[in-house]
Amino acid sequence: MVEKGLHPQQLQESEPLRDVERTCMHNLLNSTDERVYFKDLNSRFLLVSAGWLSTVAPGHSMEEVIGKTDFDFFGEEHAEDALADERQIILTGEPIVGKLERETFQDGTSPWVSTTKMPLRDERGEIIGTFGISRDVTAQVRAEKALAYQVLHDPVTGLANRAALMDRMSQALVALERQPGRLAVLYVDLDHFKEINDAFGHAAGDRVLAEVGRRLSVLSRHVDTVARLGGDELVLLCGALRDDDDIALVGDRIVQGIRAPHLAEGRDLSVTCSVGIAVTRDPFIEPNKLIRDADEAMYEAKQAGRNCYRIYDSAQGVASGTSLLRAELTHAVDEAELFLLYQPLFSLDDQSLIGVEALVRWRHPERGVVPPHDFLPFAEQHGLIARIDSFVLNEACRQLAAWASLDGWFSEFTMAVNVSGAELSDPGFARQVAEVIRRHGIKSAMLCLEITESALVDEWGHVQETLSALSELGVRLALDDFGTGYSTLAHLQRLKVDILKVDRSFVAQISKSPLDREIVAAVTAMSHALGISVVGKCIETSQQLETLAGLDCDQGQGFLLARPLLPEAVVALVI
Ligand code: C2E
Ligand code: MG
Repeated sequence: MVEKGLHPQQLQESEPLRDVERTCMHNLLNSTDERVYFKDLNSRFLLVSAGWLSTVAPGHSMEEVIGKTDFDFFGEEHAEDALADERQIILTGEPIVGKLERETFQDGTSPWVSTTKMPLRDERGEIIGTFGISRDVTAQVRAEKALAYQVLHDPVTGLANRAALMDRMSQALVALERQPGRLAVLYVDLDHFKEINDAFGHAAGDRVLAEVGRRLSVLSRHVDTVARLGGDELVLLCGALRDDDDIALVGDRIVQGIRAPHLAEGRDLSVTCSVGIAVTRDPFIEPNKLIRDADEAMYEAKQAGRNCYRIYDSAQGVASGTSLLRAELTHAVDEAELFLLYQPLFSLDDQSLIGVEALVRWRHPERGVVPPHDFLPFAEQHGLIARIDSFVLNEACRQLAAWASLDGWFSEFTMAVNVSGAELSDPGFARQVAEVIRRHGIKSAMLCLEITESALVDEWGHVQETLSALSELGVRLALDDFGTGYSTLAHLQRLKVDILKVDRSFVAQISKSPLDREIVAAVTAMSHALGISVVGKCIETSQQLETLAGLDCDQGQGFLLARPLLPEAVVALVI
């Protein structure tokens, strides 16, 4: 390009560098560790310092470097950047001062450098090239990055800290202004965390916090922020929620996800948590107010017995009607107001007793005995179903073990327990079942878990794993209410269930409706081909019983055969 200026070889001999200047320059360049370089108008090296030579081109002599360009020593991208900078300096005469950039060497290393480049002028002031100094600032950049990380992260969990959370909240509120929707803050506080610290020490406590942080991150969407405010208090910030996104579901998933067993180094570090949720549509809400509301709701969750979530109602503080029923139900679990009835199941061949199905009841101090349909859906929506399910499973297995120890009891007697969808979505459920079986010393084949079709539609993806783990345990699986959902017969094989309970709606009409008879006949034939037993439930008339037996149905259950019974009545049936 430009022909004016120095040729590399000319610098040594040419005027105007007088001898003394040349000596000074020589000494300076040979003694400095800085990377100093002089280039001509075509960005070819004229001179470099000893520091440049030893770091950029170790093993090369000055003569080998002179006349070469950055493309001979650096990665292409960096060499192009440098060339562009130098052309700009030559064109404008303006220096580039303290530019922070990454030099990439051809061996792949890429230190951070701070570069200052100036125009190189002759005695008349004409630009004849460029010169520059680059200083390696990698250590400094790393330290700054570590500091920035520290400023925004919690060291124990690696999660965002309070400062980062506040920043993300401001961003989320700005986004809410542009795009209306909802923003939710979930305040998560571990229950009895102090006991873990006291029993196992602070290192174990930190481990629990890190695991809780990890689970919260797994349970949240990638756009959400999980932060630790300090102590055992964590926050999940969910922005950009659509109106149909069910925040209660998220609360429930968190309660369940945290309480899944956590065993480490032979210790049980399992914890539960209480969650308070505050939701807003107001982009101008004060971020601290939102956190305070969530905190208040969390406090309500603690009051309601812990291991559950509460939603803050901005109209009246924490919702009172819901809170009453919730508190009552929590109380019911704690105070043993729940109890089980057992409905017998018979073989349709010879009407012999096979086992029972456990059915939960709530003995309410004022309302009397409340059936499951009046409180299970509420429990499911308000984060209490897990505690009820776990009570039922434990109590049914305890009862089975007690019966099995009686003289005259038969060892094939089975206990069926209904399992909610929430349990199946809980990754720790199979382990919980294994633990209950072990605790009561029962044979796993004597336990049958009844799952419904709707529970199989699981958007969080743990159901299949849970079912496989349960099969491996040797527990039997029954698909309840078959025919009401979307399970096809093809599904059955994949699900590996052992028993299929035909929905009551088919049984109700079976002696009158030829279509229902055909369906039950086909289902039974297919199930038998797959090695699955079929149960007809809610049998109320002898016609229904006879028709089902005629269609090759294996087992039957219903008021005609036996109502749900107290344990003593079951003993009377067996012995
Ligand atoms: P399910 O599993 O289908 O249980 C059978 C229900 O039908 C029971 O009602 C039982 O009392 C009733 N039933 C039995 N035979 C007859 C009959 O011949 N005629 C009529 N009309 N009804 C009959 P229940 O105990 O009210 O339970 C209702 C549902 O609540 C159960 O349906 C089950 O889905 C759920 N459930 C009950 N106990 C539990 C439990 O401990 N945990 C969970 N997760 N769910 C439970
Ligand atoms: Mg059932």
